[in-house]
Amino acid sequence: MGEKSRILFDKARQYIPGGVNSPVRAGKAVGVDPLFISRAEGCFLWDAEGDRYIDYVCSWGPMILGHCHPEVVRAIEERISKGTSYGAPTDLEVDMAGIIIDMVPSMEMVRMVNSGTEAAMSAIRLARGFTGRDKIIKFEGCYHGHADSLLVSAGSGVATLGIPGSPGVPENVAQHTISLSFNSLDEVHQAFDRFGAEIAAVIVEPIPGNMGVIVPNIEFLKGLREVTLDNDALLIFDEVISGFRVGPGGAQELYGVLPDLTCLGKIIGGGLPVGAFGGRREIMERMAPEGDIYQAGTLSGNPLAMTAGLVTLKVLRDGDIYEELEKKGKALFTGLEGAARSAGLKVVVNRVGSMGSLFFKEDSVSDFASAKKSDVEMFKRYYSGMLEQRIYLAPSPFEASFLSTAHDEKCIQKTIDCAAASFRSL
Ligand SMILES: *Cc1c(COP(=O)(O)O)cnc(C)c1O
Repeated sequence: MGEKSRILFDKARQYIPGGVNSPVRAGKAVGVDPLFISRAEGCFLWDAEGDRYIDYVCSWGPMILGHCHPEVVRAIEERISKGTSYGAPTDLEVDMAGIIIDMVPSMEMVRMVNSGTEAAMSAIRLARGFTGRDKIIKFEGCYHGHADSLLVSAGSGVATLGIPGSPGVPENVAQHTISLSFNSLDEVHQAFDRFGAEIAAVIVEPIPGNMGVIVPNIEFLKGLREVTLDNDALLIFDEVISGFRVGPGGAQELYGVLPDLTCLGKIIGGGLPVGAFGGRREIMERMAPEGDIYQAGTLSGNPLAMTAGLVTLKVLRDGDIYEELEKKGKALFTGLEGAARSAGLKVVVNRVGSMGSLFFKEDSVSDFASAKKSDVEMFKRYYSGMLEQRIYLAPSPFEASFLSTAHDEKCIQKTIDCAAASFRSL
């Protein structure tokens, strides 16, 4: 870390808890203090020192077109002189809803919010209101933002009630959340056997990206669809990462499993703060003011955020982006895997399209328990080695790396070469 980032971090820690506005940024998981960023363009970031890095965080997913995509920048510049917020409806929101509904197969209606947290929190309230039930099932290692019901750890043993995932989450809220192992349909069936008539919804990241990338077993996703239908519970796909990342219609289109409700965020804001949730008309019509389930937002549907998101989605819809991203993702991750093997290291690479993770582990990583068995100390050394060579990875062994259309062959090859050097020194 450069001197300027160090000075800024010292100051930040006096004013902001831990010096950051979102915990993972502090780099505690890798034992490296954060870089303070001064600007970005394409696949590059520049830190406060002026040093340039190849960026695989991409703002944790949103920057799928790279930083400062010319069309996105132009649209925001044009829009900003017309005012930044009105608290009243605009044509942009109608266009945004239209393009989302067009592209995401299961969505018939949608409501815009300001973050992924809000999207998941609101979808849970809607599911509870719609079914008249309180309990929800989630999966260990899946992240759905930090709302109370969703910040819950697994209890001991299968199908026990959840325990608060943070001080401040009341036990009597956590007890309505059942936390199970991802990819384990058996556990889901046991939970439904025991609590079936009380379960409002199953919420899942169809392609988990928050314990590192996990590739779902398609039978698992299909099984979730069946068991929720059989028990009159709702299936909620949290596609805040996978939506518009793994294909124009997200994981639901890729795997052909349609949920009742979908949560979106990240990419749909084109780098501005946005979330959305939506799904079947019959359910969405229960939302206020049409229906009786309350949810609201002063800045929801913000014209600048809608503008950035709309342009991004149009580029994704109209370009040949996903084939290109698949090629790039394959080149990067097979390159990394090969480099690790050549250095005699045992690694597992999990990838879907342009999102992927490398774990230092011998056998497969299919859920949180197996992800946690990877060698975290080894990852820390790898991370530092990459950072020294100006490759910016997510500062945690349990996060995804993301590619954008701006990552070209040259920077991918450079990344693989740097990784090879880093692997050899482990
Ligand atoms: C990032 C993320 C969220 C939370 O979104 P925020 O905008 O950070 O509140 C929710 N779900 C998933 C799957 C995410 O990756």
